[in-house]
Amino acid sequence: MLIGILGAGQLGRMLALAGYPLGLRFRFLDPAADSPARWLGEFLHAEFTDQSALARFARGLDLVTFEFENVPVEAVEFLAARVPVFPGAKALREAQDRLAEKTCFQACGLEVHDFAPASTRVEFDAAVASLGLPCVIKTRRMGYDGKGQAVARVPADADAAWNRLGSHPLLIEKFVPFAYEVSILAVRSRTGEVAFYPLTQNTHEGGILRTSIAPAPRETPELQSRAEGYAARVLDALNYVGVLAIEFFVVEDPSHPSGVRLLANEMAPRVHNSGHWTIEGARTSQFENHLRAIAGLPLGSATLREGVARAAMLNLIGRSPPVADLLRLPHAHAHLYGKEERPGRKIGHVTMCWSSPGDVDRGMTEARRLLLPHDESGA
Ligand code: AMP
Repeated sequence: MLIGILGAGQLGRMLALAGYPLGLRFRFLDPAADSPARWLGEFLHAEFTDQSALARFARGLDLVTFEFENVPVEAVEFLAARVPVFPGAKALREAQDRLAEKTCFQACGLEVHDFAPASTRVEFDAAVASLGLPCVIKTRRMGYDGKGQAVARVPADADAAWNRLGSHPLLIEKFVPFAYEVSILAVRSRTGEVAFYPLTQNTHEGGILRTSIAPAPRETPELQSRAEGYAARVLDALNYVGVLAIEFFVVEDPSHPSGVRLLANEMAPRVHNSGHWTIEGARTSQFENHLRAIAGLPLGSATLREGVARAAMLNLIGRSPPVADLLRLPHAHAHLYGKEERPGRKIGHVTMCWSSPGDVDRGMTEARRLLLPHDESGA
């Protein structure tokens, strides 16, 4: 089976690495000549908007997927007329626009924090006034890794945010004083089979994911099943095939029967950075399960691997210490994406798995001490 992947970044690279043992082959299309996945299959260097390149890309493929959620929907529709594409254009369209995404969450019965769209200064001022300060101002499209957003704590911040971002349609959100952040990775196959990974607890620095720990140390069976229920509804509503990630804020609320509220912030219609730990920590990685799902194969177990009580992932952002230093960390697995070092850029990650949950704090402290003096998050 020859699978086409739109985007040839690190996610495409890890998809291919997971797919070769299943006998799958890959063809990538990416506008960047030096993409991390270019050595892992056929590589077409072209813009996503180049229809003659898309037609050449599609020729002979069994199916198409994407590893980048800002691929133009038109490119996916163009390809879908020639070859099956999973997940489809609908999921991509919903996830690309923060307003459509939040509306989809609400329609599926997920709890979300208050928000309001704004395209004009009048709408912006009204949204900020009704939501109150602090609030978070985000461009509706093309924002990721903290790009295209600002926190307004005083009126002057809102003014500055409007001056910087107001030429784009915006979404204004209430600032959520969350206790911590989690994500759920869910996968649904072409036959409707579903699997859910354990909730992952994430920390962000400057809007960029820095660490993930799974299962989330403060996870409870009730929180896990609430997140699974939410994800199942979104998978069904989008008739979704593949891995879907949903990020949540966990807010302490004594008036809630469980003591916490789970507010859906955003989703990614693809494999996700907060699931990289699954390569070493789960019985089947998110990458393999995405491929199984889109290829119509049975899904693999999404539970922790035998002997793993907890897994943690630390992103290398901007710069990386020499690989030998990474490997000196006990239990560390290094993943370097072959990207040039640049501030704010994800260039690799390290995963560590422990058989005792108590070792995580010690392990992560040691990892940060060894790895973070070298790196520049650009934050
Ligand atoms: P996003 O691009 O929406 O995932 O935002 C990136 C990160 O910014 C989130 O993971 C949070 O850490 C923070 N953030 C985003 N929106 C809010 C909000 N409404 N309230 C508080 N923090 C937020």
